Amino acid sequence: MRGKRLRRGACLMAICLAALCAFSPACRAASQDRVSGTGYFFDTVVTVTLYGAPEGLMDEIWAACGAYERLLSKTVSGSDVDRINQAHGETVTVSADTWDILSRALEVSRATGGAFSVTIAPVTALWDFTRGTHRKPSADELAAALPLVADDRLQLGEGYTVTLPDGMQVDLGGIAKGYIADRIAEKVRGRVTAAVLNFGGNVYTVGRKSDGSAFRVAVRDPQSEAEEGMLVLSVGDTSVVTSGTYERFFIEDGVKYHHILDPVTGYPAASDLDSATVICESSMTADAYATACIVLGSEKALQLLEDQGLPGLLITKSGEVLTTAGFEDMCPIYYY
Ligand code: ADP
Ligand code: MG
Repeated sequence: MRGKRLRRGACLMAICLAALCAFSPACRAASQDRVSGTGYFFDTVVTVTLYGAPEGLMDEIWAACGAYERLLSKTVSGSDVDRINQAHGETVTVSADTWDILSRALEVSRATGGAFSVTIAPVTALWDFTRGTHRKPSADELAAALPLVADDRLQLGEGYTVTLPDGMQVDLGGIAKGYIADRIAEKVRGRVTAAVLNFGGNVYTVGRKSDGSAFRVAVRDPQSEAEEGMLVLSVGDTSVVTSGTYERFFIEDGVKYHHILDPVTGYPAASDLDSATVICESSMTADAYATACIVLGSEKALQLLEDQGLPGLLITKSGEVLTTAGFEDMCPIYYY
């Protein structure tokens, strides 16, 4: 569905999403039982706001984040992902968490025609956006890495086993934060009156504001430096995930290279999209599809989201806002 065009302006928010009400002074005054904390996990800033939480829940959340990081990070030695990536063709046994993520990743890989590829690791390693030492790989390096991107060769067996041909590796960067958001949402549900979990682009809102209204989640204008030009979504108890070409990138010789890679070319996705927001009760699903949408471009992405029954909002490079059919009935949009 064709929508409005964003007003371009300068925006201070580096990343897309914040539960605006949760941080407004008015709301703070009205919610004496609100606690908020910030941590750094999964290479991103994590912000958790809890309403009516029992003592110790915040600490439990940070402990869980640490445990997931030790399990799922490719840069933590001995993590499940590290063991898979160092297995050189041997079968490894992983946790149920890791196996479940890989299993869902393969489903999304198939549904997106490989636009989402969990075996993208040999290519992401060449660009190396995570460690901040990014550089543009040579065409030869990419040509050597691309045959190793082959999700259909990732085997998941009984007893949580994982087998990859030697040389292949997995990268959960496009899906793991969603999985963790789901697990933390599960952990707080029933123990708080409401919560807003923000895993740097993956937002999960649990419950509603104390006045019964829905939380509001902001989506930034990808090409803007200031809050002007943002739009805000009013969402119920669900997850809102945005992937964008502005999250991690570098510019070389006037060309922008961002961290969402096209598994066919090995280069940053060159579609017409700058940002894709997907809404789903499963943050893991929303996460993987949002990444795939950037690769696919607006036309295929809208079709994909419609086929999957996933509400989505896409922002093109020219600032056009596109939504899946019926999006605004479910999720009103406020333009700023
Ligand atoms: P972020 O993690 O910054 O919120 P995404 O969810 O879109 O953004 O994930 C981007 C990350 O996913 C990259 O940093 C990389 O680790 C991985 N990735 C990049 N391209 C793909 C792809 N085509 N399929 C699956 N994962 C990808
Ligand atoms: Mg993602």
